[in-house]
Amino acid sequence: MRKNHHTHTPRCGHAVGEEWEYVQAAIEAGYDALGFSDHTPWPGSIFPSTRMGLEELPGYIEAVKNIKKQYGDKLEISCGLECEYYPKHMTWLKERIEEYSLDYIILGNHFDYIDESEFYFGRCRTKNDIILYLKTAIAAMETGVYDWLAHPDLYLSEYYKFDDTCVKAAREICYASNNLGVPLEYNLLGLMSIKEGRFPGLGYPYYKFWEIAAEENCSVIMSVDAHSPEHIKNTAIYDEGIDNIKKFGLKRLVFTKEGLVEAD
Ligand SMILES: [Zn+2]
Ligand SMILES: [Zn+2]
Repeated sequence: MRKNHHTHTPRCGHAVGEEWEYVQAAIEAGYDALGFSDHTPWPGSIFPSTRMGLEELPGYIEAVKNIKKQYGDKLEISCGLECEYYPKHMTWLKERIEEYSLDYIILGNHFDYIDESEFYFGRCRTKNDIILYLKTAIAAMETGVYDWLAHPDLYLSEYYKFDDTCVKAAREICYASNNLGVPLEYNLLGLMSIKEGRFPGLGYPYYKFWEIAAEENCSVIMSVDAHSPEHIKNTAIYDEGIDNIKKFGLKRLVFTKEGLVEAD
């Protein structure tokens, strides 16, 4: 059975489809587990096309609870958030995890430590940009708050050459992932985007990154990163992702009620 725990909702301002549409799509596509993990709000965040507003968070939690009541007998529904690493807001985040009994937190290392007005890591153009991405990712993984690292190769989106800095970043992220027990996510939205030619640079998932991940014995969780129910319905890309992970010789994990366990 298929599983996906990286699903957005329109609250983030760049996804479409109501919760029930994602759930229906998942049931039709043969999923037995679907987790919502919309982009977290942060205190003071003001960018409505990146994430929900702070005042929308209770409604998001409530909506996932309701959909669970409605469809919980058909598939396992869970509730998490995709979060950056902003040291100054970690207390706030830990309080929300507790308040809402969130099932998991995905590290979406999109932005530098201040807020989304800062530099987007999908636009790394220089070696220094990549080093900043690397440092932020590792510092975040070291907190123990995050269950896995989304699209660890995000830094290749607009970077043209897999040079020494890219290798260093890959090597150190993979080493930290293994060492700290924070698995890496193989991102299917990226795989779809590569096929559609939507990355100006190497894009992700990039095979040289995953060859290093295999050398470092990393564990991988595969996610759709659904921003539309159509992404859930794309079972061809799902199957291709599973195949790719096998070809790299990577160990695949899935998220369950018991946490991350090895896939069958
Ligand atoms: Zn998004
Ligand atoms: Zn996402």
